[in-house]
Amino acid sequence: MQHYKLLTPGPLTTSDTVKQAMLKDWCTWDDDYNIDIVENIRTKITQYATDDPRYSSVLMQGSGTASVEAVLGSAISRDDKVLIINNGAYGKRMAEICEILHLSHHVVNYLEEIQPDIAEITSILVEDNSITHLAMVHCETTTGMLNPINEIAHLCQQQKITFILDAMSSFGGIEFDIGKLDIGFMISSANKCIQGVPGFGFIVAKRQLLEACKGQAKSLSLDLYEQWHTMETTNGKWRFTSPTHVVRAFYQALIELEDEKGITARAKRYAQNQTLLVHGMRKLGFKTLLRDELQSPIITSFLSPDHPDYEFKKFYYKLKSLGFVIYPGKVSNADCFRIGNIGEIYTDDIVQLLDAVTQAIYW
Ligand SMILES: *Cc1c(COP(=O)(O)O)cnc(C)c1O
Repeated sequence: MQHYKLLTPGPLTTSDTVKQAMLKDWCTWDDDYNIDIVENIRTKITQYATDDPRYSSVLMQGSGTASVEAVLGSAISRDDKVLIINNGAYGKRMAEICEILHLSHHVVNYLEEIQPDIAEITSILVEDNSITHLAMVHCETTTGMLNPINEIAHLCQQQKITFILDAMSSFGGIEFDIGKLDIGFMISSANKCIQGVPGFGFIVAKRQLLEACKGQAKSLSLDLYEQWHTMETTNGKWRFTSPTHVVRAFYQALIELEDEKGITARAKRYAQNQTLLVHGMRKLGFKTLLRDELQSPIITSFLSPDHPDYEFKKFYYKLKSLGFVIYPGKVSNADCFRIGNIGEIYTDDIVQLLDAVTQAIYW
């Protein structure tokens, strides 16, 4: 089988050692599996999120969306109302979850290339005092946009509103402290910047808010409180079958994050990758969808070249044959493709990718 690097927002390229951690079948209650592994993981991810003792964490089976759905469905009671900020597919998905679960919500929509407007959001919160929660995506993977978490966090603190942050594609790749930002719930998943494989998501949240979720879930398996309470009281046990291989791989990925010297170093590597990528692509004549000030160091949307012979499929397969898999665009009103630079990807890989792009652009 041909090997290639995934330049995607996850599942992404993992290290060989992360993959090797899965080459064994584990029994969840046997000592070999390491009964403390889940507790170790929970402690480590909480520490990476903040050193504020008010926080705890919980792991949830499923892709990242399951964790988002668990948080919204468990945290928003029938008396609460959530303001959803939407400037991309993942903001929109949170609104869809609210529709399906019949959660009281208000959606403020922005075009995908536009950052949320703090003044407008402030006035919505001031005028509607039935709003108790605000949910926003940090890095909108749709475009690569970095949304303004500091300003929104500050606003939520001022207005005494619980901030739910979808930090799926940013946690581990961008430094921020959820305690300092007073974030209520922060959601991420195994297969993004921690560099594990897909299979579960995780939530770092204030204990007090997790306690308050008791009895509020609108789903049996996506009950955040019950999952957290079970892990808390039975030494990291999952309520239902745990994704053992994924857990082992994730634990290995956390060790490798430590070896890399933590999030600061990883964020620096990603930022270097992204700068090199954009610089090289611009030299080849490509244009980015977003201005540099709005751009995250995670994934970049490039406008499709305005050339009659350009076809994404052809470009994609040429790059794949040269060892790189890129991502189609997801923006509604612009023709784009995306290149991620997270995962086990280093500047050498970006240099080789740029060389591959150079070969691929003889349309
Ligand atoms: C990846 C991602 C998700 C979760 O997507 P799944 O396909 O369910 O794993 C949610 N939000 C953002 C911003 C993401 O990048």
